[in-house]
Amino acid sequence: MARYPRLMPTAPQLFTATVVRAERVSPTFQRVTIAGPELARFEWHGLDHWFRLFLPPGNAPLHLPKVSGRSWYRSYLLIPGSERPHCSNYTVAGFRHTGDGGELDIDVVLHWHEGELGGTVAAWAVNAEVGSPVGFLDQGVMFDPPEDAAEVVIACDETGLPGVRGILRDLDASTTGTALLEVPTAADAAEVAAPAGVSVTWLPRNDAHAVPGRLALAALERIAPQPDAYAFVVGESGLATGGRRALKKAGLSPSRITFSGFWKA
Ligand SMILES: Cc1cc2nc3c(=O)[nH]c(=O)nc-3n(C[C@H](O)[C@H](O)[C@H](O)COP(=O)(O)OP(=O)(O)OC[C@H]3O[C@@H](n4cnc5c(N)ncnc54)[C@H](O)[C@@H]3O)c2cc1C
Repeated sequence: MARYPRLMPTAPQLFTATVVRAERVSPTFQRVTIAGPELARFEWHGLDHWFRLFLPPGNAPLHLPKVSGRSWYRSYLLIPGSERPHCSNYTVAGFRHTGDGGELDIDVVLHWHEGELGGTVAAWAVNAEVGSPVGFLDQGVMFDPPEDAAEVVIACDETGLPGVRGILRDLDASTTGTALLEVPTAADAAEVAAPAGVSVTWLPRNDAHAVPGRLALAALERIAPQPDAYAFVVGESGLATGGRRALKKAGLSPSRITFSGFWKA
């Protein structure tokens, strides 16, 4: 398999930008585009490149932590509560250099609890005002197949979809394998660019009460990976940990599995 960069930066860069657009791209995803001159120096590595998003509370000014090497959290906690930005992890869904900087797309999952939109970032995404400030801290990519990986086995829920979409788009054209993409509704399943040898299966839940990740986990449990496959399993915590367990049971070495719980149901 082609080599992919392992790019958790040793000195992550902090950026500020403002919202320039927001649009609903499917029933579950709200795409927020941020832009600004500082994005001229952002180096997009494609794949599942992710970052820590900082949103100021209410109308407070954006107060960002000081970053020193990979340390930022202590400084973040020292920001007074009324000014401390909300922080969550998100993926670069798209990036373009522009004449005066750059534009970065964030595909935010909208999730509802008893009819109410849940989560600070989902609420921000649907109400995002043009010109409102955000910050983000580059965290690099997680997708890290060993050089000898014979195939990929990928599974995600909707929160992992922006990253998995990027991985499928950027995989070497000769890659083979399987991608299991669970989404809330069939209308969230859109065309993905992927190598011809990777079979892509959409798994729409179509049930507002179903626990996210269970469909993808059940499908993953039916897969028999080659011993030299590389697996990437991200999304709801039960999918990530259950997926790792199932793949280990199927004979895949833990060193060939990247798994990450993106949120907890
Ligand atoms: C590396 C990485 C990349 C990520 N990329 C993306 C991305 O591109 N797009 C994206 O939408 N998410 C992404 N996530 C997941 C996202 O960080 C979480 O969903 C996060 O909890 C949302 O932040 P919040 O502050 O709005 O909600 P929180 O304040 O953390 O959570 C509020 C409540 O909502 C619940 N909740 C959170 N997410 C969901 C969900 N999806 N469905 C149902 N209930 C939920 C929580 O359990 C909690 O009860 C990523 C996570 C990681 C680790």
